[in-house]
Amino acid sequence: MAEALREFHARAAVHAAALGVRVTRIGLSDAATRWGSATADGAIRLHWRLIQLAPDLLDAVVAHEVAHLREMNHGPRFWALMARLVADPAGTRRRLRDAAASLAPF
Ligand SMILES: [Zn+2]
Repeated sequence: MAEALREFHARAAVHAAALGVRVTRIGLSDAATRWGSATADGAIRLHWRLIQLAPDLLDAVVAHEVAHLREMNHGPRFWALMARLVADPAGTRRRLRDAAASLAPF
């Protein structure tokens, strides 16, 4: 899991710099129903299985949680931030849903 954490830290650093936010902690999760989560104190948790997905999907989830450090909702301002961080937020979102369905624990 060290590889996953290393990758998460690298991607989070890029997105945090782009948004001017600080990620205080990154933890691994094996939650049954979500790829990641974020709390207002700057801690984000990411599913370890993201490392098994395409790099742009992993990146989109990290971007999603980092964007929550600016916008703790899924409103228009949140998606405007996402549009700055990833090339195709709607497309990656769809592919992440499909990927979740194909993972046994989900
Ligand atoms: Zn969210």
